Amino acid sequence: MPFNNQNLPYAKNHLEPIISEKTIEFHFGKHQNGYADKLISLTNNTKFENMDLVSIIKETADDPSKTPIFNNAAQLWNHILYWESAREYREENNIPNGEFSDAVNASFGNEDNLKAELLEASVNLFGSGWVWLTVDPQTKNLKILKTQNANNPITMNLEPLITIDVWEHAYYLDYQNRRPDYAKGFIFHLLDWNAAQEKYLSVLQQK
Ligand code: MN
Repeated sequence: MPFNNQNLPYAKNHLEPIISEKTIEFHFGKHQNGYADKLISLTNNTKFENMDLVSIIKETADDPSKTPIFNNAAQLWNHILYWESAREYREENNIPNGEFSDAVNASFGNEDNLKAELLEASVNLFGSGWVWLTVDPQTKNLKILKTQNANNPITMNLEPLITIDVWEHAYYLDYQNRRPDYAKGFIFHLLDWNAAQEKYLSVLQQK
């Protein structure tokens, strides 16, 4: 499996002015590719070499001897979803009406509450990690999660719809220590609610 064959789904200046081209050059070009290269070297000539990322994540999550493989596979998978979670800047970035929007209203009251809770989670997560909007495939409930380091909801039987990277490398060049400013920009102006809705509908159809 060529783990390092990932493509950014848009040009490196696509998320400006919230995330600069320079940040993406480092974040995608150096950090994400670093995880991919490390995963290749760790899995070379092992049974994981030709597995997909989700299978690697599930197989290594509870095995302390496989933590380095888990960390690099999960970080790579998390970043792929992160880029898919964003689209070009919109001043007004609202959730389209439909089943997904109905689910947001049922779980959070309204979309303003959802965005406020995502922001609170992003600001309050201590250290490095990820904020997620997930759906439980069994109950269909939406839930916000915070995870530290490389951890992700795949190992908790939840389907991630969107994710926000709150590792410092995601924002330090543009915002230095001002994580709240980065998180606000990402949540209110970049999140791709159409992509979240598509993932939500595909989870519903799996049943
Ligand atoms: Mn990152």
